[in-house]
Amino acid sequence: MTSPSPRPRQVRCPQCGGLSLYSPDNRWRPFCSERCKMIDLGQWASDAYSIPVEEPDSGMTDAFDRSGD
Ligand SMILES: [Zn+2]
Repeated sequence: MTSPSPRPRQVRCPQCGGLSLYSPDNRWRPFCSERCKMIDLGQWASDAYSIPVEEPDSGMTDAFDRSGD
């Protein structure tokens, strides 16, 4: 049996949807490139700025809310 050549693990780049090498060789993982990572970080940052501080959607806040009833 010939085993297939070890393939590096690949994931989908969250930014562009392309294949991205998920290995220590790719310092931008899970993004495919620095560009994609920067774009994503930029979006995240702008989101953080445009949205006022709000509790994340979690069961804990829900439970806490109901306790006031
Ligand atoms: Zn990408």
